[in-house]
Amino acid sequence: MTRRRRIYEGKAKVLFEGPEPGTLVQYFKDDATAFNNQKKGVITGKGVLNNRISEYLMVRLGEMGIPTHFVRRLNMREQLVREVEIIPIEVVCRNVAAGSLSKRFGIAEGTQLPRSILEFYYKSDELGDPMVTEEHITAFGWADTQDMDDMISMTLRINDYLSGLFLGIGLKLVDFKVEYGRLWEDEQMRIVLADEISPDNCRLWDSKTNEKLDKDRFRQDLGKVEEAYQEVARRLGILPEGGPADVSGPKVMQ
Ligand code: UDP
Repeated sequence: MTRRRRIYEGKAKVLFEGPEPGTLVQYFKDDATAFNNQKKGVITGKGVLNNRISEYLMVRLGEMGIPTHFVRRLNMREQLVREVEIIPIEVVCRNVAAGSLSKRFGIAEGTQLPRSILEFYYKSDELGDPMVTEEHITAFGWADTQDMDDMISMTLRINDYLSGLFLGIGLKLVDFKVEYGRLWEDEQMRIVLADEISPDNCRLWDSKTNEKLDKDRFRQDLGKVEEAYQEVARRLGILPEGGPADVSGPKVMQ
């Protein structure tokens, strides 16, 4: 097999040159990191599950009018995506207090927020992804006010849609992080949802028991990490055929 050109390697994914110009192959690894890379580990089968979960959610979001970079899933660990210029901002949307918000403001984890809250973080490993405001983002030219309006309105729509989707399968969408990219088509630029949406970047709690079914199980050493990702896939009705045993699957590239 010819080795494809590796464009970028991140903590949980690798991007390879795609089969045609303007496309990339997004490969999902089992590697997990937390606390700005200080904690590292492997969650067996995570890549396979996140590939499926992100495919499912991106397709559903596309159907309700959110433009995304997703084209199609290629195999167990890879999906074809449109090449975009990533805007270096992580957009976090919160419905329930948890994680850094609970810590920063001393609000007990699990407290329902008075309304959904958006936050922005500048993507920089060296700086530890500092929180920024729209003022920083526009002043430093990471995005302009039109880009911000687009990202904010899309994130709020994504939140409403995904909150309902997850509620329907007994999961509470506590918070999530999304990233956007610029896509050029015939001299026209539009902002599309990029990266992935999975239990790596969402907090998902069982709506009855508040059991955590996301990466916090890894961050906080709660155990049953693989099982939590599988449970999310199972409830979405997309557990790979053959059941959980199938998830480590064929390692297409490594
Ligand atoms: N998040 C993420 N990548 C990051 C930081 C946060 O995907 O680099 C997600 C995280 O999984 C959670 C939400 O964004 O769903 C809010 O995270 P928080 O700010 O509470 O940070 P954390 O507690 O993860 O440090």
